[in-house]
Amino acid sequence: MANVNERALRLGTQRSVIRELFEFGKKRIAEVGLENVFDFSIGNPSVPSPEKVNETAIRLLKEMDPVTLHAYTSAQGDAKVRERIADSIRRRFDYAASPDSLYMSTGAAGALCGCFGGLLNPGEEVIVFAPFFPEYRVFIESAGGVMKLIPADTEAFQIDFERLEEAISPNTKAVLINSPNNPSGAVYSEETICRLSQILKERSARYGQPIYLITDEPYREIAFSGITVPFVPKYYPNTLVCYSWSKSLSLPGERMGYILVAEEMEEHDVVYAAVAGASRALGYVSAPSLFQRVCALCAEDTSDVSVYETNRNILVRGLREIGFSVVEPQGTFYMFPRTLIEDDVAFCEKAREFDLLIVPGSGFGCPGHTRISYCVPTERAERSLAAFEKLAAYYLKNS
Ligand code: PLP
Repeated sequence: MANVNERALRLGTQRSVIRELFEFGKKRIAEVGLENVFDFSIGNPSVPSPEKVNETAIRLLKEMDPVTLHAYTSAQGDAKVRERIADSIRRRFDYAASPDSLYMSTGAAGALCGCFGGLLNPGEEVIVFAPFFPEYRVFIESAGGVMKLIPADTEAFQIDFERLEEAISPNTKAVLINSPNNPSGAVYSEETICRLSQILKERSARYGQPIYLITDEPYREIAFSGITVPFVPKYYPNTLVCYSWSKSLSLPGERMGYILVAEEMEEHDVVYAAVAGASRALGYVSAPSLFQRVCALCAEDTSDVSVYETNRNILVRGLREIGFSVVEPQGTFYMFPRTLIEDDVAFCEKAREFDLLIVPGSGFGCPGHTRISYCVPTERAERSLAAFEKLAAYYLKNS
């Protein structure tokens, strides 16, 4: 056996359940046709980017000096790009962001790795709420930290403040939130953010050191029924925002996002430098030049994300009629119903027999549930209900 890094080998060989299902789906599609496979496994946006994205890319390719366009930008991102994004944040959230607080990243994943790498000393803890995006554990542990998981509030998928208060200790370096949430679709209200901020301020003061709040926001623009997603730095000064255009502009493959280090953060410049250093150590160099510019010019546009709300309505209503218990998502393109048996892994295995590709909740730290990624054409969401009905009938017959 080659003498390689054991942890890296494990990460490289154990494919994630989601990726595995996605690959299984591709195989099934080849066998029975795309229209007969209900692939709810992966969070690839199903709607195209707005026209303006391609038009902007083409215009830049035609009009900009190619040497400049394809050159390295500054490590933290092109200055004009950061100015434009800071302006947009000021306009949209009434928050005085400075370009020097922004660090352009390779998606939200790159942003999160920059934050964890920049903040964590070996053994320091990051508090995460279940259900959670499984890559968090990989990113936190790669940065030498420890993920401390708070069990899910399965009634509403909101923050369980009692458990949070119990979990915070002098070893807590950061709390990580993700709203709108993957996989539950929950959105934290202003009241929730205020209460969280209050607790973190009080504990930071008690321990004489800041507890950072990292807010992972790739789904900020996908919130339903006009619901507002609070802009967290306005409520808590020691906040780092991890943003991405992967979902809002349907550009996950272009790897573009940013970190915003909140203006009023204690020792702001030191934290910013540490985030920059972590990104340097990870070899990110600078985010892709062309798409930094495209995203800055399209920062206030989104794909037509209304299809996700349509799909949510169809599936929540349909699944409840079939007998599933599901908390209505307020955003994203995920929902997280209870499985009809306790063993979510066995349930999702059985679902495959009906060509329903859904992900066990265990991987998200919340067994007894399944994640459905409804970023699919609406007619497929509609037709999938017959397959869910057959799955439910199987359990009814065998109970
Ligand atoms: N955070 C969450 C909650 C996600 O769901 C994802 C991707 O699905 C990411 C981060 C990573 O996003 P990106 O593609 O922008 O790196």
